[in-house]
Amino acid sequence: MTSIELTVSMKMISILPLGRKKFESCLQILIKSIYHLENCTTWQYIVFATKHSGESLIMQTYDVAVIGGGPAGSMTALTAAEFGLETLLVERHPVIGSPVRCAEGVDHKGLSQFFSPRPEWIASIIQSYCLVAPDGTKVVMSNEGNKGYILERVVFDRMIAEKAAGKGAHLITAVEAVGMSSFEGGFRTVSLAGCERKWDVRARVVIAADGVESRVARWAGLETSAAPHDMETCAQVTLAGIDCEQDMFRMYFTNEFAPKGYAWLFPKGEGTANVGLGISGDSAGGKKPLEHLDAFLARHFPGASVVSRTFGGVPCTGGIKKMIADGVMVCGDAAHMANPITGGGIINGMIAGHIAGETAAEALKRGNALEWALKPYVERCNKRFGSMNRRFYRLKEGILRLPDERFNSLAHEFAGIPIEKRTPTRVLMSALASQPQLLLLLAKVVF
Ligand SMILES: Cc1cc2nc3c(=O)[nH]c(=O)nc-3n(C[C@H](O)[C@H](O)[C@H](O)COP(=O)(O)OP(=O)(O)OC[C@H]3O[C@@H](n4cnc5c(N)ncnc54)[C@H](O)[C@@H]3O)c2cc1C
Repeated sequence: MTSIELTVSMKMISILPLGRKKFESCLQILIKSIYHLENCTTWQYIVFATKHSGESLIMQTYDVAVIGGGPAGSMTALTAAEFGLETLLVERHPVIGSPVRCAEGVDHKGLSQFFSPRPEWIASIIQSYCLVAPDGTKVVMSNEGNKGYILERVVFDRMIAEKAAGKGAHLITAVEAVGMSSFEGGFRTVSLAGCERKWDVRARVVIAADGVESRVARWAGLETSAAPHDMETCAQVTLAGIDCEQDMFRMYFTNEFAPKGYAWLFPKGEGTANVGLGISGDSAGGKKPLEHLDAFLARHFPGASVVSRTFGGVPCTGGIKKMIADGVMVCGDAAHMANPITGGGIINGMIAGHIAGETAAEALKRGNALEWALKPYVERCNKRFGSMNRRFYRLKEGILRLPDERFNSLAHEFAGIPIEKRTPTRVLMSALASQPQLLLLLAKVVF
């Protein structure tokens, strides 16, 4: 049997009097009858047609194409699919959730908005926090009724993506988005490459959930770069065979090892923990984060076994200026949605993903995804965490820039008061006591 020499461009389809949908279905019937494919599904047909022509015969059209299979992207795909939208989720790595570039900490309030914790993807449950001052003074604090979890992100991220697939989203891995057209006739065309082929898909809405190095947002003309002092550059190892409490986060404030940032220990069960640090991009003093981390490990965990290493950046700007364009919404790290003080971005990414899926459904129901129709996305994100993040951004300067002596004196002060009175809020209040404007801002964040 010879292969079909037939390539149909969208231009050809749009000038056909039949209309695109009718033309596509006539074409499918024609090809199915040539190849005796009576009982195949549309997908089997497309795979077959692609194999035989070497090129995609008909550009697949989706309501929503999500680029990036992290928590933000998978949550968008899940929500869009729940709304009945034809959804595509594209991830460039072969395995969703891997490699992990994260300390994997989340809080219960944030997580439980979406999922009940499951033992398969919870490595440990956190009941308290321990702040470690530069001179080694430890201050254990209550978690103010909001416990924390250390996730197994490989399992967690895949769980969300699988739920999206379960609701009808189409997932592809080991495939990268390599380009995107402008918004024409109500669609963006996304060029994909991977698994030894290249092809285009069309989508009414594209979600840029492609993380800190987002290119999709830039293809839409949106600015996503962060100044060096707003980019937390991080290095982390997973240590094994160490002695640490399994129900406690540790945060080390020390300009010696983590200038304008902090170091952390997040326990992962059975003597293992994610230990890392994040430093402001302009404060490394010529040293790379890994060098700072090696020095930190030599001091605090000499001789510990390193099971894995990871590096990454978290943009801590408080949010990009513009996160929508015609047919595009930017989500998660791509839109700098992480908390600028802690660098935690998993929950905000998921919240934004949910809102993006919801907004896409509403806009497409009204028949258009032009920028103005996507404005509710911006408004709702601002309401949920965006305005707060902008305040945190201003607070960051006051908190992470304190000299070591001040961290030490704060730790001594708090170590002397009863544990039930030591809360993160009170520590922050004391830390900012000499900066009345920031104290006022903190009051707005907390109360
Ligand atoms: C060292 C470190 C520790 C951290 N610790 C925490 C923590 O404890 N708690 C917390 O809440 N946050 C933490 N964060 C931040 C957190 O990891 C991110 O905020 C979160 O992963 C953001 O989710 P996302 O879906 O926006 O992006 P990502 O999780 O980065 O997902 C983006 C996905 O897009 C894919 N992609 C990129 N480009 C393309 C393309 N062109 N085509 C197809 N796919 C593409 C990538 O492969 C990736 O899988 C940490 C970050 C670092 C670096």
